[in-house]
Amino acid sequence: MAKNQDMVSDIIIIGGGMIGLTLACGLAGQEGLEITVVDALSPDAATDSGFDGRSSAIAYASYRMLDAIGVWQYMADEAEPIREIRVSDGDSKLFLHFDHAAVGDEPLGFMVENRHIRKGLFRRLEECGTVKLIAPDRLESMDRTPYAATAKLASGLSLRAPLLIGADGRGSFVRRLAGIRTSQWRYDQTGIVATVSHTLPHHDIAHERFLPPGPFAILPLSENRSSLVWTADADLAPHIMALSDRAFLGEVQRRMGNFLGDVALAGPRFSHPLGLHFAEHYVGQRLALIGDAAHGIHPIAGQGLNMGFRDCAALIEILADAARLGLDIGDKTCLERYEKWRRTDNLLLAAVTDGLNRLFSNDLTPVRVARDIGLAAVHRLPPLKKFFIQHARGTVGRLPKLLTGRPV
Ligand SMILES: Cc1cc2nc3c(=O)[nH]c(=O)nc-3n(C[C@H](O)[C@H](O)[C@H](O)COP(=O)(O)OP(=O)(O)OC[C@H]3O[C@@H](n4cnc5c(N)ncnc54)[C@H](O)[C@@H]3O)c2cc1C
Repeated sequence: MAKNQDMVSDIIIIGGGMIGLTLACGLAGQEGLEITVVDALSPDAATDSGFDGRSSAIAYASYRMLDAIGVWQYMADEAEPIREIRVSDGDSKLFLHFDHAAVGDEPLGFMVENRHIRKGLFRRLEECGTVKLIAPDRLESMDRTPYAATAKLASGLSLRAPLLIGADGRGSFVRRLAGIRTSQWRYDQTGIVATVSHTLPHHDIAHERFLPPGPFAILPLSENRSSLVWTADADLAPHIMALSDRAFLGEVQRRMGNFLGDVALAGPRFSHPLGLHFAEHYVGQRLALIGDAAHGIHPIAGQGLNMGFRDCAALIEILADAARLGLDIGDKTCLERYEKWRRTDNLLLAAVTDGLNRLFSNDLTPVRVARDIGLAAVHRLPPLKKFFIQHARGTVGRLPKLLTGRPV
C-alpha cells in the first residue's frame, strides 16, 4: 500500500502490551470487526527474558476471561496456581491467612511471567488470523474528527478507523495527544523485581511481608521458583541494584528467612519507580483509554493488570453489543457506557491500594498496633476473610460476562 494512503479498519489499538493484546484477542472475530494493533516493540523483543523480568498475579476472574477468549491454553503450562496468601506485619508473630478452600476448590489466582502472558497472547492472535499487528512501529501523531480517528506512525503509515484505543501504558502518548489530564503522584518507593529459584517447595503459597519501607512479596512460580517484589526506599534502590549478586541475595534472604531453603537468582533484576496516576476521562471523541494508559496503581495488592483486564472485559462486551446491533462503535454514547462502568470501580481500587500502602509502610507504634489489631480481627472473622478472598479473586461487583467465563 502507498504510504500516503490510509489503511482503514474498525478499531486501531495503539499499544500491544498485555492489555492491548488481550483487547485485540477478545475483539477478534466479533461481528466481523477489523482490528489493527500497533506496538513500539517487536514480538521477539517483548517476549525475551531480558525485557521485563516481571511476573503477574492473575486473579481468578481474569483467568476466566483469558480462558473464554482462547488465550489461556497458550500460557497454562507456565502458570502456577496461588492457593494461599499469608500476610505478615514486620517481625510480628501475627499473620493473616487466606486459603482458597474457604470459597471452593478453585485457586485464588495464578502467577505467570509477563513474557509468557505476552507469548500466549501473540500465539492466540496468530491463530485468529484476523488482527493486523504492526510492530515495531510507533504512533507519532493523531487526528480526530466527529467521524473517524487517524493515526500517523513513525514508518509513515497512516491508519484510519471510527475508534482509536490508547493501550500504550503509563506514559500514554495517546492520552497526552488527546489532552486528557491525570491526577498523579510518585511514591518515595521503588519496586525491585527478581526471580529466584530455591531448594524447598513453595506449596503454591504467596507471602506478603509488610516491612517499614514497604511490602516484600514472595510469589510462587513454576519449577520451584518465586517472583520477588521488594518495595524499597527510592533513595536506597540504586544502591540495592548496584549490589553484587551475592550481596543482593544475602539481603533478600535476610528479608525472606529460610523457609524456601537456599535461594539463587534465576534471572536479571529490574527496578520500577512506583506511582499512582488516574486519567480524568477514559473516553473522548472517537477515542478510549484502557489499562495503564487510563490508570496506574501501587503493586501492593497485585491488581494493576487485573484492573486493565476488567476494562478489557467491559469494553469488549460494549463494542460487541454495539456492532451486533449495527450501531456506531466509536459513538459517544457507546464510549460513555464504558467510562461509567469502569472509572468509579477503578478509582475505588486505586484509593484502597494507596491507603493500604500508607498504612503498612509506616513504622509508628500506634499505627503498627492498630493494624495488628486489624489483622487479628480479620483473622478471627470468617465472613470478613471470605469477603477479602472474593476481592482477591476478582469475583465481586457487577462483572462483565467474560469475567464470569461466559462468551459475549
Ligand atoms: C513491580 C510491579 C509489579 C506488578 N505486579 C502486578 C501483579 O502481580 N498483578 C497485576 O495485576 N498487576 C501488576 N502490576 C501492574 C501491571 O504490570 C501493569 O498494570 C500492566 O503491565 C499494564 O499493562 P498495559 O498493557 O496497560 O501497559 P504496558 O505493559 O505498559 O504496555 C504498553 C505498550 O504500549 C507500547 N507503546 C507505548 N507507547 C507507544 C507508542 N507511541 N506507539 C506504539 N506503541 C507504544 C509499549 O511498547 C508497550 O508494549 C505490577 C506493576 C509493577 C511496577
